Amino acid sequence: MDIDALPKVKKPTKAEQVAIDAEQAEMAKRFPASGRQFNRAKAVLTELNAIPREDWGQRQFNSYVDALVEMGEFDVAYELTRDKKYKQIWDAINGKTKLCKCKDYESIELDKNNQPVTVRHSRLFVRSEVWNVRTGAMANIIMCNVCGRVTL
Ligand SMILES: [Zn+2]
Repeated sequence: MDIDALPKVKKPTKAEQVAIDAEQAEMAKRFPASGRQFNRAKAVLTELNAIPREDWGQRQFNSYVDALVEMGEFDVAYELTRDKKYKQIWDAINGKTKLCKCKDYESIELDKNNQPVTVRHSRLFVRSEVWNVRTGAMANIIMCNVCGRVTL
């Protein structure tokens, strides 16, 4: 065997190429090329990745996590911090959480004829707006005021 011979490069089949293209499109979503916010976050990640992690201070760690959040990398943010809020958002983005069945709030108010009427108030509120790596767009993170469940 000639050990200096170049390794044979296997050309992907059509089906393999489709899978590769899909994977690359997915990666492009995770690292969107446009937008100042994302470019800044990417620069922070690149810069900090050049420094050994054991040399990071708390501030650098926090900047790193903030940058991950900007990029929509909630899975990695959770891995690093073990903060449940990141896991909740990641699960919501991945369609793992369904809307809860809690009841909306109701109150009795008087209408203009001074007659009592029942008014419903939504239990849901927008907690934050985040980058959704699955769709490549911003998404509202909705939280239930009763049970605290997080959905999209
Ligand atoms: Zn609920």
